[in-house]
Amino acid sequence: MPGIEKLAINQATTRDRWTLREAIEGYARHGVRGICVWRDKLAECGVSQAVRLLSDHGMTVTGLCRGGMFGGADASTWRATIDDNLRAIEEAAAIGARTLIMLAGGLPKGSKDLPGARARVAEGIAEILPAARAAGVPLAIEPLHPMTCASRGCVTTLGLANDLCDELGEGVGVAVDVYHVWWDPALDAEIARAGDRILAFHVNDWLPDTRDLVFDRGMMGDGVVDIPRIRRLVERAGYDGMNEVEIFSAENWWKRDPDEVVAVCIERHETAV
Ligand code: ZN
Repeated sequence: MPGIEKLAINQATTRDRWTLREAIEGYARHGVRGICVWRDKLAECGVSQAVRLLSDHGMTVTGLCRGGMFGGADASTWRATIDDNLRAIEEAAAIGARTLIMLAGGLPKGSKDLPGARARVAEGIAEILPAARAAGVPLAIEPLHPMTCASRGCVTTLGLANDLCDELGEGVGVAVDVYHVWWDPALDAEIARAGDRILAFHVNDWLPDTRDLVFDRGMMGDGVVDIPRIRRLVERAGYDGMNEVEIFSAENWWKRDPDEVVAVCIERHETAV
C-alpha cells in the first residue's frame, strides 16, 4: 500500500470549507505534501502569496485545475477561451504545477456535431501548445465519463485522449481519473499505451447508486472501483507521481469538517488505494 509521501489532495476535496491558504496549511498539518490547486482559489489568494505558502510548507503542486473547455459556440467565445487557457499556463508555471489539467468541454449550445466538437479540442490545444511548451507546463488531457459528454467532456475515453497525444506530440499527456475510466474495457491497454505520458493519477470512487454525475463522488473504498489494480497499471506504465484524491461531493464530504476529511483521505489512501 502506498505511503503518505505519495498522497496529494486535490483542493476540490475541501473546496467549500477551505481557502487555498487553509488547504495548504491544513494538508501540511496532517503530513500531506501534495496539492492540486484550483484557479478560482488561486485568484482569491493571489499568485505571489500562494507561491510563498506552497514553498513554506514544502508542497508538491501536482497540478492546476483547469484549462480547456473548448465548447464555445462563436468566435469571440473561442478567443476568450484561448486567452483564458494562456493565462492558466502562466499561473501553472508561476506556482510550479507539474501539469495543467485540461477538460475538453462539451458540445456548443444547440450543436449536435460531436465529431466537430472533438476536432475543436485538438485545434484548441494545438493553439496553446507552443505557449505551454515555452513555459515548461505539460498539458494533461483528462477524459471524462461519457455521461458528461454533452456538458463538459467530449473526450470520453482514455483512447481518445491518447489519440490526441499522438496527434499533438511533445508537451501533451493524460490525466487518469479512476472515476472517469474505471468502466472502460480498453482501460488496461490504453494505460499501457499512454505510458510515460500519464501526468496525473486521480483517485476517488464510483458509488453504484450515485445521485449526481459530477458532485457525488465517493471516498476511496466506498464504491465499486478496484483502485489498487488501476494504480498498479499506471505504475507499470511508468507513472511515479503522486496519487491525488479528488472528491466532488456536495451532499457528503463537502459538508464535513475538512480536518476529518483529510484524516479519512490519509487512512483510505493507505487501505484502499
Ligand atoms: Zn480528475
